[in-house]
Amino acid sequence: MEKSNIVWQNQHVTKEKRISLLNQKPCILWFTGLSGSGKSTIANAVEEELHKKGIKTYLLDGDNVRHGLNKDLGFTEMERVENIRRIGEVSKLFVDAGLIVLTAFISPFKSDRQIARSLVGYDEFLEVFIDTPLSICEKRDPKGLYKKAREGAIKNFTGIDSPYEAPVEPQIQLKTDECDIQACADKVIFHLIKYGYIKGDENDYAI
Ligand code: ADP
Repeated sequence: MEKSNIVWQNQHVTKEKRISLLNQKPCILWFTGLSGSGKSTIANAVEEELHKKGIKTYLLDGDNVRHGLNKDLGFTEMERVENIRRIGEVSKLFVDAGLIVLTAFISPFKSDRQIARSLVGYDEFLEVFIDTPLSICEKRDPKGLYKKAREGAIKNFTGIDSPYEAPVEPQIQLKTDECDIQACADKVIFHLIKYGYIKGDENDYAI
């Protein structure tokens, strides 16, 4: 298709108008960390708490997205980049709709997280680093993937034979070897209240 024939259509109901109907400031909570670090578990706990508070949310989870939107993508470097790019674009649409979006993907490369960040406003992207040592992730091995990777049955596995580039200045850093699931989720909610994304008393979530 000839790209120059595609013209951006201005819509009458704008992002601002949509947000005005909601009691929240939209953003992406971009969870990143090793497999088994606790991204899905904590993102779920956070979403549940937000939902209880009447906040409109959407959780995009790695495996689920690969069953649908990204089922045509494998794990080569190019496909991993495309995986994250599409997730970033979908997250951007949900932010445009006014939601608090939670994404749970390993997203090991700084450059990919940077692409996702660049799609939305600076304060609309909160990097949540699930900082769990590899040794603990491997001990948990909730999906048996580390065992398979160590046996050579899975190639390019993050932390084993593919690097994980840790965030340098994440907005939120959660050490799951020091805090339980509830405490980690509370820390995220605390941040959202403190910086005005949702209303509430941050002291209820102070640790
Ligand atoms: P990921 O989504 O990063 O691959 P999961 O959330 O699927 O990781 O798995 C993390 C595992 O670690 C779960 O079995 C969870 O119960 C366990 N776990 C133990 N302590 C914590 C904690 N403090 N935070 C998150 N997960 C924890």
